[in-house]
Amino acid sequence: RSLLEARDVHRSFGQTPALRGAQLAVGGGEILAVMGPSGSGKSTLLHCLAGIYTPDQGEIRFDGQRIDELSDARRTELRRTAFGFVFQFGQLIPELTVSDNIAMPLLLGDVRRKEAYRRADAWLDRLGLGGLGGRRTGELSGGQAQRVAIARALVPQPKVLFADEPTGSLDSLTSETVMDLLVSTARAEGTTVVVVTHDARVAACAERTVMVRDGKVSALTEYEVAG
Ligand code: ADP
Ligand code: ADP
Repeated sequence: RSLLEARDVHRSFGQTPALRGAQLAVGGGEILAVMGPSGSGKSTLLHCLAGIYTPDQGEIRFDGQRIDELSDARRTELRRTAFGFVFQFGQLIPELTVSDNIAMPLLLGDVRRKEAYRRADAWLDRLGLGGLGGRRTGELSGGQAQRVAIARALVPQPKVLFADEPTGSLDSLTSETVMDLLVSTARAEGTTVVVVTHDARVAACAERTVMVRDGKVSALTEYEVAG
């Protein structure tokens, strides 16, 4: 059974339709890339799957449960406990250190201080950030900052990691390194990943790619698979 599903999802913003019957099923542990032209509805689909936007019509299911029908409070709780997020930028607090940023979601989730920092520091070497724990995140390179953002998203052990253009601000070599790390650590943790990207080389790190076009989801054409 799918871990995450969009069934015939429609969502408009005023007169602008963003999704028009989007269908998608993501398996548990699957690493899925979502591509498509700018304005095709990728971000809106990700926000709907993550319970941030509710569809105007259709269903979103997580682990068999309709999440679009939950109260706002219960959806917020689900996002906090089961989902992790990585965006293009902006999720780190620049004045705080790398360790502080990674420990933050654990501290907010009532993990004790010592345990939170122990778990945060265990992620540093794993993401090639050894020795940077005491550095303020505002002083990091773009690639380092995105690796901290990945650690911060994965440290509470979410079931699903949602990433919206996580490498959008990086050069292509750094993008591939960061995406490889995201995929290998998520796979080691058994975390399901849904990553929106414009970059075919970033998508190539995923196990499967779908295309969003005019608010609908389709498989890649042969031409697109060939690149
Ligand atoms: P993509 O991520 O593929 O670029 P989006 O999901 O961001 O596409 O947008 C799909 C369409 O919906 C676009 O026409 C966009 O302008 C519109 N849209 C998305 N979010 C909003 C919003 N919050 N308010 C108004 N229009 C929006
Ligand atoms: P992406 O790089 O994912 O395509 P966008 O630049 O399309 O991102 O959108 C960034 C954010 O702004 C998203 O949260 C999206 O919902 C929102 N947004 C997109 N288009 C509009 C719009 N026309 N009006 C208001 N908000 C929008």
